[in-house]
Amino acid sequence: MSRSNIRRRLVLAAIAAVFTIPVAIAAQQPAAAPSAILLRPARVFDGTDVHEGWTVLVRGEKIERAGPAAQVGTPADARVVELPGATVLPGLIDAHSHILLHPYNETAWNDQVLHEALALRVARATNHLRATLDAGFTTLRDLGTEGAGDADVGLKQAVNQGIIPGPRLIVVTRAIVATGSYGPKGFDPRWEVPQGAEEADGVEGVTHAVRSQIAHGADWIKLYGDYRWGPNGEARPTFSIEELTAAVETARSSGRAVAVHATTPEGMRRAAMAGVETIEHGDDGTPEVFRLMAQKKIALCPTVAAGDAILQYRGWKKGVDPEPASITAKRASVKAAIAAGVTICSGSDVGVFSHGDNAREIEMLVDYGLTPVQALRAATSTDARVLHMEDRIGSVAPGLLADLIAVEGDPTKTITSLHHVTFVMKGGVVYKGEGTAAR
Ligand SMILES: [Zn+2]
Repeated sequence: MSRSNIRRRLVLAAIAAVFTIPVAIAAQQPAAAPSAILLRPARVFDGTDVHEGWTVLVRGEKIERAGPAAQVGTPADARVVELPGATVLPGLIDAHSHILLHPYNETAWNDQVLHEALALRVARATNHLRATLDAGFTTLRDLGTEGAGDADVGLKQAVNQGIIPGPRLIVVTRAIVATGSYGPKGFDPRWEVPQGAEEADGVEGVTHAVRSQIAHGADWIKLYGDYRWGPNGEARPTFSIEELTAAVETARSSGRAVAVHATTPEGMRRAAMAGVETIEHGDDGTPEVFRLMAQKKIALCPTVAAGDAILQYRGWKKGVDPEPASITAKRASVKAAIAAGVTICSGSDVGVFSHGDNAREIEMLVDYGLTPVQALRAATSTDARVLHMEDRIGSVAPGLLADLIAVEGDPTKTITSLHHVTFVMKGGVVYKGEGTAAR
């Protein structure tokens, strides 16, 4: 970080302190943070494997050293943070979130999209971002505002400018759907009802929507390759391969990648043929379509936590009632994806359930067939690679951004440890645990 950046950050922190926290608390804040911080946990999961007895040295916004304690040493100017019994990990990544939604058992999706004021949704989202960071998630790929316009772009700016605490955000703005396929649905045909995403059709129309969303601040492009618009409300493919290909080529030309929502084998096949980079959900994926994805190096975000939550909202008493057929089928499809060699990313579809509970996905990936280490890789180094950010985040290694968290115990043995986050640092700034900065 340059000196001018450091100065800027200090000024921003001072401004934030004046406006957001009581004077009595502000007076207790140290004048300036020491230049180096040494994290001394029991072990470090570096994004790939676990290492007992490692320490991590952070200087400014980056990791300077990580390795066996004796090799890392303790520089004279370092402030030591003791984390006995804890595991330090890269800040967790959730590659599929909806920061502008809140759980459907609180308010149905239709009502959130149509009834809730934009300012209300944004105000709620600031709480969601704080809860997410507090839970150890330092990066989100937020896959659609669901009717909240381009509000994700402003929220990202608010986080980046230090106005509100939150994870790094990769945003897609409104997402793109084929006309007539999405929701809210079920109104008198006289009414043109605002939709939860931007409608576009044809190669020209889709190309324009991609360019327009880029102009509005999209980092990735998200399309719905199928949706529940079949004659009986079942999921059916929406965009043609030509439309999807136009989206991919337009996005790629601008240096951006495409994520596609698809649950049907044909929707997934078209997305794969078009060269998208991630497929979201993939519920009814067949071994054939997973082989195609593996061959084309397309990652799958199975979003297992969302389906599980929705069925519980519909009355399934998990652990008491027998497992619903759709959950059993989902287990089988995730297993088929793993068997086919598809890269599994960790993306929870949080927003369907409570923000800050994102670790449910990682935990459930273990329940669905990954080892704890594989699931932790998915939420760190794999997600970072899928997001093209592996040179900045997702691993504990020198030169990477100091996005580091600590959890009680060893999550490589007991994945539920992820629910006990005791320390959160993003870009070298401590947000939770010893040495938390004013915010
Ligand atoms: Zn979603």
